[in-house]
Formats: sequence, C-alpha cells, structure tokens
Amino acid sequence: MDSVTGLDRVRVRELPLHVRFMAGESTGSYVTRLAGRNGLGVQQLLDEVGQGSTRAVAPHLTELYLNRPAAERLAALAGRPLEVMRRALASLDAAYLLDDGDGTPAWSFPWAVRDGYLVRACALCAARRGIGDPAWMMVADPWHLCARHARWSDNSRDPQTPWIDVADWPQILAAERQRVAMERRLGRTARTLFADARTMSRTESSAPDRLRSMADRLGEARAASLLSYPHTVRIARVLARAERRRLGRELTSDSYEDWFTRSSQELGPRYQGVLRRWMECHKPVPGPRRGGVLGRAVLVAPHTRIAPLDSVQQLSCLPSGPVASPFDRPFL
Ligand SMILES: [Zn+2]
Repeated sequence: MDSVTGLDRVRVRELPLHVRFMAGESTGSYVTRLAGRNGLGVQQLLDEVGQGSTRAVAPHLTELYLNRPAAERLAALAGRPLEVMRRALASLDAAYLLDDGDGTPAWSFPWAVRDGYLVRACALCAARRGIGDPAWMMVADPWHLCARHARWSDNSRDPQTPWIDVADWPQILAAERQRVAMERRLGRTARTLFADARTMSRTESSAPDRLRSMADRLGEARAASLLSYPHTVRIARVLARAERRRLGRELTSDSYEDWFTRSSQELGPRYQGVLRRWMECHKPVPGPRRGGVLGRAVLVAPHTRIAPLDSVQQLSCLPSGPVASPFDRPFL
C-alpha cells in the first residue's frame, strides 16, 4: 500500500463493552448500539473506524457502508471476528462494501441505500439480545415477518403501527415455515421463486377480518405484501416443482405441459396466462441430467444474478404487473 494514513498506523483498541449481534441488522443500527453501550457518540466511534464522506446520521434514516479496511477496524473495535460480523450485518457482504481505494479505511451514510430496505426489527427478538431501543434491519424487501413472535414489520416509519400482530392468522405462520424450508432446500433459487410468485399473486387472502380492516387504514402499499403472503408462498411451491426439475436438467416439454395442467387446475384458470409467461422465461435446460439435489450454486437463465439484498421486484423475471405500486419508496 503506497499511501498509509494516520488511521492505518494506529492500531485500534478494542472497546471495553461488547454488544450482541442480531441477524440481518443494519450496520448503522449496530454501530449506534455499540457506540451507545460504550458511552460514545456515533460520530466519535466512526472517527475511529475511518474517514467519513458524510456525517453520522440516525440508523432509521439510511444505512452505513464501509470499505474492507474500515470493516476490519470496526470488527477490531467491537472485539469480534470480521467473518462473524459479516454473517450478521448484511451490508458487509462483498456486494455492498465501498471501494477500497488506496487502502484508507472509509465509511459513508449515503443519501439512499443501495439495495434492500431498512425495516424495523422485531422488538421481542431485539429484547432477547438485550436491545431496548428500536433496532433496524437491512433486508431485501420492504417487510420482515418474525415467525417466532408473529410480528410483521415494514419500512414505514409509522409510529402508530410500528408492527402488525399476525398471531391470529395461522396460515401466514405456516406459509413462513414452508418458505424457510424451501429456502433451506433450494438456496437462492427459492428467493427467485418467491419473487416470481409475488409478482403473480393476486390478493386471495385468508386473513382475519381484523387485518383486512387494518389494511384499509394502512393503505394498499403497506398491506398488499402482507395480505398476499400465504398465497404467494403457495404459488412459489407450485413453481418449485417445475424449477427443481428444470435446474436438474430433468424437465422435458411433455413433463412441463403436465405440470402446467396440474398447476393451473390447482391455482385456478386466472393463473393460466401468467404461468405460460413464466414458462416462456423458464425454458427447459438442455444437457445431461445433473442428478440428485441441485447445487446451491446453480444459476440458470433467467435468474443469473441473485445478490443478498435484491428485492422481489429486482429478482422477478416477470413484469411487475399487480405489484407495481407497493414498491415505490416512501421510505428507504
Ligand atoms: Zn421476533
């Protein structure tokens, strides 16, 4: 490294007090907690981390991004291995690190987040980790469902309804378990299937009346993803039956037609058109059978890029259609 700044030469000293990680937390939220726990201002702590191109701001406003040298210094200050920290904080994924430049540790709170959304973390999950203040997550989509505590939160900053209780809606909790199981089996492919399914899904909701009338008050933009969630997972599971075989090079045009017939019976005639469009994008892949469980690394057109914080809208290969409106960004 040619240019060594004063910051590089000084070894960081580990802060006396540690804070626990929360999976998916935003870097800004984590750093704010770490500073607070040690009686420091966020700006003071960030001065130790590296050179800022902005001022420090509150974690609900935007995300904090670091380059690799700054991430190393933050890990040293926090007294935690960088690899562990990177698993917890989504914005430390290689896809979202700032440029290393000349090797000077650098950070920035940009005006807008790059991918993903800032969503309020489940307060009960936070409390289990000793976090009393609102904590913020960086997640791919503008919502987060905590299945453990049956709470749905989103990227609105609405103080009246910071989260929505879904404990009386067993279908959404069952759907979430199925979605997580699908992600365990299919890895990133499950995210693309959910994204395509979300683009297809009409609101055919089993939601309790309480949630339906709440939706009228919250507005379409906030309520649509919640109310369509179980149905979206149902569609994603239907798509998965074909996609698993397609990625394993086992899908023939005949078996695709059989799948189409069964699936449009299951989902109803109004899905025929959109299933056909989906099949047009997801063409059978020629080549020898791959056999066994498809590898998590397999990426096949149309889904050849699946970044950790890509949203449903970014991932779906279908035109957004009915979900165009919920994805404008009133908030980051
Ligand atoms: Zn929770």
